[in-house]
Amino acid sequence: MDKTFHIVTFGCQMNVGDSDWLARALVSRGWRQTPEQDAWLFVVNTCSVRDKPEQKVYSELGRLAAYQRKKPGLTAAVGGCVAQQIGRGFFERFPFVRLVFGSDGIAAAPDALDRLAEDASARIALLEFLGAYPERQDVLTLPGAVTPAFDADAGAPDADVPGKPAQAFVNIMQGCDNFCAYCIVPYTRGRQKSRAPEAVLDECRTRVEQGAREITLLGQNVNSYGLDPTATGTGADAAGGLGFAELLRQVAAIPGLLRLRFTTSHPKDIDPAVIRAFGELENLCPALHLPLQAGSDAVLKRMGRKYDRARYLAIVADLRAARPDLALTTDLIVGFPGEGEDDFLQTLDMMELVRFESSFSFRYSDRPGVAAQRMQPKVPDAVGQERLLRLQSLQNGITKQTLKALEGRETDVLLEAMSRRQDEGETFWRGRDPGGRVVNVRMPGERMPGADIAGSPLCGQMVPVRILEAKNHSLLAELCWGKR
Ligand code: SF4
Repeated sequence: MDKTFHIVTFGCQMNVGDSDWLARALVSRGWRQTPEQDAWLFVVNTCSVRDKPEQKVYSELGRLAAYQRKKPGLTAAVGGCVAQQIGRGFFERFPFVRLVFGSDGIAAAPDALDRLAEDASARIALLEFLGAYPERQDVLTLPGAVTPAFDADAGAPDADVPGKPAQAFVNIMQGCDNFCAYCIVPYTRGRQKSRAPEAVLDECRTRVEQGAREITLLGQNVNSYGLDPTATGTGADAAGGLGFAELLRQVAAIPGLLRLRFTTSHPKDIDPAVIRAFGELENLCPALHLPLQAGSDAVLKRMGRKYDRARYLAIVADLRAARPDLALTTDLIVGFPGEGEDDFLQTLDMMELVRFESSFSFRYSDRPGVAAQRMQPKVPDAVGQERLLRLQSLQNGITKQTLKALEGRETDVLLEAMSRRQDEGETFWRGRDPGGRVVNVRMPGERMPGADIAGSPLCGQMVPVRILEAKNHSLLAELCWGKR
């Protein structure tokens, strides 16, 4: 049997990073990543934060079931949040699923997949939560580690393809202890477990040595890094009280690292030292995703968010004092149980007050087992949908205005790939400015065949640009070498 695999990824940046690691680990063991028609093994890495991504998992497995009838022997593994929830249930519903692994189980998934390849009768479930951060095999320095390509995401914040040499995504923790009333993460990813600072720093140094110019530190709530009880011997204790602010400083000091970002932050845990870091660390990008979720104090309280409007606005004021050009983005939920029109208007009011550059907004949906599932009254679908449209329309207007204000400015863009936009005789490359905004850069010369692959010399280049025009959700720019 040819050890070939194909990975489909749903969900957040952490899932994308997990798939990246798994692909590298498999390749380092002699597996080959292929297009789906050539693959023996399908790995479906799942997300259940919202209802829609979960439905996508079932529809993907349904599609594979039909495919399997034409290609007997096809094997699937299901990982991530839905796997943690449904577990062995997948074995019954989809007989070709032979491995399920949760967030902590992924570290052992490559061994398990090797076993499946050798033993046609094996079925394995890796669903236990471990007591400490499950450190994974270091695949960065292994020969044969590749840049995998991914097929899908569920529209989560900034779920770009990682693994390109210029951009690296590094996990610093796993799980969450907050139990926000609507959120399934503490049940599917487990309690918070901080990764040892030495392991984080080693991975960051290796990534930079391998060509990374930008690193994004990942975690469900990075601001509480090192504060969990499982940080004993790792996290806080091992580094003499090293918390997130100090970790940021140590990563920022790695020679050759041009840009540093992190996600996601919980407002209740953001430390003044982290806020100060935005004004002090030159390579810490002026961009922060700070989930607000709702603008009404009553709703925030029912959500269990542990901050109110005043506290959130005070944090924003401090952040902007430290870094006036900070680009703030957020997550918002509309139609949370009990949300009245007045509550919703307060969410719109917060959008106006903070002027988020963009936001990810969703209609509340019940997730199994969370506290909000039992809360009443539920907001009717039609009302929730209408509120979502109003909120998104307001956001679109603010986004346009904030992008418009950047026209004529000069900045730097880290090029990621060739843009979808290509005009006759002109080549455009897509990248991001320090604020994380998508910028399409007009390049001189003819379109270069194959230039959209990660190996192109343009991929990963930092280029100076002038912003020509604001589009609805992105910027158009030209190179300005020698003009600055
Ligand atoms: S902080 Fe709240 S919303 Fe974020 S992962 Fe934890 S429980 Fe979920």
